[in-house]
Amino acid sequence: MGSFLDKPKTEKTNHKGQGNNLSYGLSAMQGWRIEMEDAHCSLIGLPRPGLEQWSFFAVFDGHAGATVSKYSSDELIKSILDTDPTLFDEISAFATASNSSNNAINNNTRPLSPTPNEKNSDNDNSTTNKLISNSTNSLNKSDSNNSETPTSTLKSSSQINLNKEAAGIDLTTTTNSIKTSNSNSSLSTNKSTSANSNNTPLISEDLQNKLKTAIRQGFLNLDAKIRSRAEFERGEDKSGSTAVACLISPTHVYLINCGDSRAITVSDNQIVLNTLDHKPINPVERERIHAAGGSVMIQRVNGSLAVSRALGDYEYKSVEGKGPCEQLVSPEPEIYIHERTEKDEFVVLACDGIWDVMTNEDLKDFVHARLKVTDDLVQISNEVLDTCLNKGSRDNMSVIIVSFPGAPKVVQAEVEKDIACNEKLENRVKELIDSNNQGRVEFSQVLQTISQEKWDDFPPGAGFHAKQTLIEEIYNRLSPPRVIYENF
Ligand code: MN
Repeated sequence: MGSFLDKPKTEKTNHKGQGNNLSYGLSAMQGWRIEMEDAHCSLIGLPRPGLEQWSFFAVFDGHAGATVSKYSSDELIKSILDTDPTLFDEISAFATASNSSNNAINNNTRPLSPTPNEKNSDNDNSTTNKLISNSTNSLNKSDSNNSETPTSTLKSSSQINLNKEAAGIDLTTTTNSIKTSNSNSSLSTNKSTSANSNNTPLISEDLQNKLKTAIRQGFLNLDAKIRSRAEFERGEDKSGSTAVACLISPTHVYLINCGDSRAITVSDNQIVLNTLDHKPINPVERERIHAAGGSVMIQRVNGSLAVSRALGDYEYKSVEGKGPCEQLVSPEPEIYIHERTEKDEFVVLACDGIWDVMTNEDLKDFVHARLKVTDDLVQISNEVLDTCLNKGSRDNMSVIIVSFPGAPKVVQAEVEKDIACNEKLENRVKELIDSNNQGRVEFSQVLQTISQEKWDDFPPGAGFHAKQTLIEEIYNRLSPPRVIYENF
């Protein structure tokens, strides 16, 4: 950790797939780091009968090794699904009943009509059907003793206050803490009404609460399960991993976050839902760290770890007399809910290697604009990583873009504008190379010159950096090769 290569590894791991009215593209790149510690998961259709129309995507940013991130990418969704064996049956039964009544009334008003699964070309999921057993008893016990304070100081109105569940407060009496991003669709209003125009609940409040509990418990169970592996019990492996995930049902988007990776949901060219990073300096995090006898120095837990929630990191989870969510580092996720609409465009999940150099708005603008130029989500994902590398990110990078039917479509005028921009760049690079007939024009000079010029047609959200890789390709193609003297 913390060491860098002489030059970045820019080879990318790509996956793509479609089904359930979704498409996704994924890109991961080691970059400047000596190791690749990120991992990911993408599943169209969940491996449970009745959940074929649900999908799951996640990015895991490992630190101090890749053991926890890799293991989590294989096991997290199974851990969530195994937490409450009857819940997902109930949810699918509810959805089926709700769907059939809605379809009978008006098919158009449903956020999405169910479609059969299509091919999923992600081949990372070969172990998906291998289920893990639960080890929840001890955890449940310590949880019920959990005296953690509610996280009511956190800002987002769309945040689910899971700590109230941890504190044993009956959520049916505290439903004001449950909001969706759609202001018309507060689940706390009345069970007999809901946001959709058919007045048919998309998922009952009770099931929604149970689902949140299952997601949370799935994280805690996974964290306990990894801890029981020999290399962790012996203290040999000190790795940890953040997790940012997205569970998509036919009616809702659930963003799930533990750590400082991040996800955004974009609808009608607006960010309607985003996760909040768990940094040690956040008041809620700092309070927990202090209560566990730790400190926050140079914005890090005990002056060392830059993230305050993660899977693994067991060195920070051994304070006696404290529950799993009261430790210096907590494995507890926060869950954010958005009720799907026809205007939903896409979800982006990415690790901090991306967010270090791009804001939420930047990435939203960039993906939105590129979707008008290409429908190839892998290409856009690769462009995101190259842009971030060009903007100076030194970290591992992983991004997943999941698009909904309401995503921008390719517009011929935008395609032509992009081609024209690339041709203009080609001419400009050639011009700069030819400008000095006395000697060689270095790439850095070309780059610096173009970066200082005013170009209106660079992609929004990324600008010049989105074209830097192309400029380099053009330069390498057009510039006379440098004479290299080698020792024989
Ligand atoms: Mn990172």
